[in-house]
Amino acid sequence: MLAIDLKGKHALIAGVADERGLGFSIAKALAEAGATVSVGTWPPMLKMFKMLLARGKLDDARRLSDGTLLDFAAIYPFDADYDRLEDVPAEVKDHRRYAECGDFTIAGVAAAVAASGGVDIVVHSLANGPEVKKPLLETSRAGYLAAVSASAYSHVSLVRQLGPVMRPRGSFLTLSYVASNRVVAGYGGGMSTAKAALESDARVLAFEAGRRWGHRVNVISPGPYASRAAEAIGPIDLMIKYTSLASPLRKAITADQVGATAAFLSSPLASGITGTIIYVDNGFAAMGVHVDHSDATTT
Ligand code: NAD
Repeated sequence: MLAIDLKGKHALIAGVADERGLGFSIAKALAEAGATVSVGTWPPMLKMFKMLLARGKLDDARRLSDGTLLDFAAIYPFDADYDRLEDVPAEVKDHRRYAECGDFTIAGVAAAVAASGGVDIVVHSLANGPEVKKPLLETSRAGYLAAVSASAYSHVSLVRQLGPVMRPRGSFLTLSYVASNRVVAGYGGGMSTAKAALESDARVLAFEAGRRWGHRVNVISPGPYASRAAEAIGPIDLMIKYTSLASPLRKAITADQVGATAAFLSSPLASGITGTIIYVDNGFAAMGVHVDHSDATTT
């Protein structure tokens, strides 16, 4: 039988702070396949996430098919905006949400992961664009650079700093969006640029990390899904409805579909796949005009 088997593998998922995000579903899928899972959580969300876990509020969402609960080997405080503690401005370091987090930078997480014995799978499941609701024409330079820094450069830095502490034949994954190469109205603030950079970088990183360490780097591009981040951007229900109607399979994607794809890409079954973008979008990205003869109405 051909099965996704991640037993003995350790996965780090950067960008998990609730049960509604795609990172959480990826964590569940990797755990279902037998992996040990740790997460990196943005300090502003950390206290709430730990509290929800401690109070059992996420137990239903954490339930795996064998009845056990998804458990995190570690929850690292993690801010993808910073590569090293020396780069962090004093007002952030001293902020009450950061003050007791230790080294929450990418270097800090890489050191903690190395001390815990390394990692086999790293998933970058985060994005942030402070001006995402602004059209590109109205986006400030600072907002644009912040989007690219948090959402794209953070992946470069993760691969650079975690590549050396990854066990042989490791897998990096990141999550993009079709706005990287098509116009998606309302996805502003430089976020479309950030996703384009993320995809381009993934190809180059696949080459460099492959040659240097033998690791793979791939991208999943999901269709719209009502996560907390997506709801904050705009009318996600409308986006889901629109893309569902326009997709060959005429339905919305589920987070489980993204999780299953992540588990496959992270597994030895995908050992020949690197530098690739896999769309989990019911075929939406393939479409141009979606009205077919059965839809057409005579006027
Ligand atoms: P989400 O709310 O779960 O994910 C965003 C996460 O990023 C949150 O946990 C947030 O705390 C974290 N984050 C934000 N800034 C951070 C920082 N500076 N450092 C560390 N963490 C930070 O939402 P999601 O939609 O599941 O997003 C996960 C990924 O999937 C993102 O890259 C997103 O662009 C991508 N994606 C989402 C959709 C969608 O419709 N939901 C579609 C395509 C791609």
